Amino acid sequence: MTYGGRIQRVRARMSELGIDVLLLSVGPDLPYLTGYEAMPLERLTMLVLPRTGDAQLVVPRLEAPRVRRRPELFGIVTWEETDDPVALVAGMIRRSARRVAIGDHTWARFLLDLQRAVPSCVFSRASEVVAPIRMVKDNDEVAALTRAAHAVDGVARDMRAVGFGGRTELAVHRELVDRMLAAGHERSNFAIVAAGANAASAHHEPTATRTIANGDLVLCDFGGTMDGYCSDITRMFHVGEPPNEVRDVYAVLVAAQESGVRAATVGTPCEEVDAAARSVIADAGFGENFVHRVGHGIGAEAHEDPYMVAGNTRALEPGYAFSVEPGIYFPERFGMRLEDIVVATTDGPVRLNVAPRDIAIVA
Ligand code: ZN
Ligand code: ZN
Ligand code: ZN
Repeated sequence: MTYGGRIQRVRARMSELGIDVLLLSVGPDLPYLTGYEAMPLERLTMLVLPRTGDAQLVVPRLEAPRVRRRPELFGIVTWEETDDPVALVAGMIRRSARRVAIGDHTWARFLLDLQRAVPSCVFSRASEVVAPIRMVKDNDEVAALTRAAHAVDGVARDMRAVGFGGRTELAVHRELVDRMLAAGHERSNFAIVAAGANAASAHHEPTATRTIANGDLVLCDFGGTMDGYCSDITRMFHVGEPPNEVRDVYAVLVAAQESGVRAATVGTPCEEVDAAARSVIADAGFGENFVHRVGHGIGAEAHEDPYMVAGNTRALEPGYAFSVEPGIYFPERFGMRLEDIVVATTDGPVRLNVAPRDIAIVA
């Protein structure tokens, strides 16, 4: 879909919600609508998008050359180092405007200054306007997510032939980052490497002190951004033959993930995807060892709406992209997780990740 088409949808939703003006600064909503990403700095960049009438992009003069001109979508208003950009934006919010939606990632200092500058306005989150639109990925976005998924699939597959024993978690982490970049990602967003008991902490930070040894089960959860869209995959590695206990628990995890993926049909509430995976783990007696939701939406952000979690009754629509990543964690012993990105389609759930899902036995 074109930027113009997206802006049209956003405006329709503003009408539905009674929002008079949308303000977008740092974060992915702005590039989603304009192709321009604000620098995450102290100088204010802000798109002022009224429900009707012309949109303006307020941008520091020194950053204006970075903006690709799209006069059919928005005008450009630059401010000088000694100007007050908040006053500039406040002046552009029409006198009649009552309800303002502002980007969730906007620095608090700008929101606080704006609230003072337009005291009659009521502020709400821009995600209420934009998230339901961003959640539905079009064909180009699904293609970008698929390319990113296949890139990390290649990394996951190649890592099966790599030696883990004798190396630190940090060394393997760096290798994952290097391989993601070599596979076409413009950046790595995270690369968790957790050996043995460290994997019992779901978001363990890789260390230079933990050396991976024979008999370690190692969790690798990594992803980055490629052509503006994110990848995210988790695979398990074992140095030498895994013991039966690890194999048995892993079989439960595989069944749980499969159950979660199968449940992800159009019209199914997000919370039922969570429940479908969770019930398999609970039935096996490990319910207490699964301490997080089953998944998160993915797109321009590594974690975004919709979340596969109890309480989220939103029904899946074609084009929703999200992770299915159950985990089973035994404090002070070991932990495991299995994660693929899935897209809901009218033909059923489609996994974007295709790398082998068994425990890779490595040296
Ligand atoms: Zn996570
Ligand atoms: Zn992950
Ligand atoms: Zn994830």
